[in-house]
Amino acid sequence: MSFDSLGLSEPLLRAVNELGYSSPTPIQLQAIPAVLKGGDLLAGAQTGTGKTAGFTLPILQRLSQLAPAAAGAKRPVRALILTPTRELAAQVEESVRAYGKYLKLKSTVMFGGVGINPQIDALRRGVDIVVATPGRLLDHMQQKTIDVSQLEILVLDEADRMLDMGFIHDIKRVLARLPAKRQNLLFSATFSDEIKALADSLLDSPALIEVARRNTTAEKVDQKIHPVDRDRKRELLTHLIRGNNWFQVLVFTRTKHGANRLAEQLGKDGISALAIHGNKSQSARTRALAEFKDQTLQVLVATDIAARGIDIDQLPHVVNFDLPNVPEDYVHRIGRTGRAGAEGEAVSLVCVDEHQLLKDIERLIKRPIPSEVIPGFEPDPNAKPEPIQRRSQGRGQGQGQGQGRQAPRNGEARANGEPRREGGRPNGEARGARPSNGGNGGKAGAQPSRDARNASKPSASPAPRRAESAPTNHAANSRKPTGGNPGALLGGRRDAQRSGTRSR
Ligand code: AMP
Repeated sequence: MSFDSLGLSEPLLRAVNELGYSSPTPIQLQAIPAVLKGGDLLAGAQTGTGKTAGFTLPILQRLSQLAPAAAGAKRPVRALILTPTRELAAQVEESVRAYGKYLKLKSTVMFGGVGINPQIDALRRGVDIVVATPGRLLDHMQQKTIDVSQLEILVLDEADRMLDMGFIHDIKRVLARLPAKRQNLLFSATFSDEIKALADSLLDSPALIEVARRNTTAEKVDQKIHPVDRDRKRELLTHLIRGNNWFQVLVFTRTKHGANRLAEQLGKDGISALAIHGNKSQSARTRALAEFKDQTLQVLVATDIAARGIDIDQLPHVVNFDLPNVPEDYVHRIGRTGRAGAEGEAVSLVCVDEHQLLKDIERLIKRPIPSEVIPGFEPDPNAKPEPIQRRSQGRGQGQGQGQGRQAPRNGEARANGEPRREGGRPNGEARGARPSNGGNGGKAGAQPSRDARNASKPSASPAPRRAESAPTNHAANSRKPTGGNPGALLGGRRDAQRSGTRSR
């Protein structure tokens, strides 16, 4: 099946062709015709599946074909794409530009942590498509620097992460300000009760589509465990990088402090490395990512949350310097490699303290991960495990890295010891004049840091969804789906619970 058969216009096909896409991915095959039809859409797809083009291409086509609602001097904002993180917002807007290269539509991206004035200028000049994180969008709405009265299409991208990151109230506030008549597209990797409730309130008779993950852990990614003593992990990492001549290595640590320290130590070992996490400025993160992408930087050390939205094709090596507290994050982490059909390698350095975490991961992915001891790095057989929490606090890293392995639930203390903060600003976005939830007068400093809130949050869950167990878990949704299989799409959580895993 080629792109030609999907009903896309010539300028879009030309752009896609120039990007080297030979055939549509499964999500694109289903989403493009569905969005072109003009109805609402509920799509189960995670990053790496090609979902961005799945909604961007048909949006561009619809906007370029339909006349703006009111022909006036200034372009009205006609499409709004909300994303959970700055990085994802930037990448999605880059895609909008790339796919819309031969169209006359204009787009802009807006997120917190950077000056608001250039965004106001761009809005003043007129844009058709806005890609934004919820907090900064609300700031613009409150300052009346954005007019969404003529909005035609709304996309919630990675909606599960937005909810997980505490954006539900911001999203509701945004929705309340949008015109009632519009096309709504909701993309989510998982379907928690919160997502189902949001979909139910937002979507009108949605088409339902769901695609398999591009990278399940069993496919394409070669996984390995290297047992090692906790104090020799850095030495082993240097040995592996040097010995194998690895380049473009994405290394995950559990904490921001750990990321900083490791990047520094690797630098001392003569390996170029930078850390990205929520305490880094946006410009530092953008620079690190750019250097990593163009391969001038050998190693990028990241916390889970900072790594979200990083999209680098064919990233060859992912290293879990620390195993994640939440097993689902393992799947998300290694999904960074082997993307877009390429082979990838994911290695985990596992010390005696992490054996239970490893067991939890293996139970989740339903298979053991092959283990290989590297000569010279044999772990001490008499080493005693230390509770990770106690150890990390002892190192003075008590910022959001507690090691409880329970999935955080709404209203509960999170795995990292942080209470869930509804309406928080995970991006560390400047809050402008908007009063915050906590009534702190909108001071960013009163917000917990981004990683502290999210470091151990479960990511896009690999909870199995079984198409054959489709039945009628949709009963709560009074609307009739127009396509796809609602039971399969919304049944992930049930299956996950049944199989002893969890989806959130
Ligand atoms: P996404 O899931 O939207 O983050 O896309 C993941 C990656 O797949 C991006 O780097 C896209 O450029 C790439 N991609 C999207 N669609 C296609 C396609 N049809 N063929 C090849 N690569 C694609």
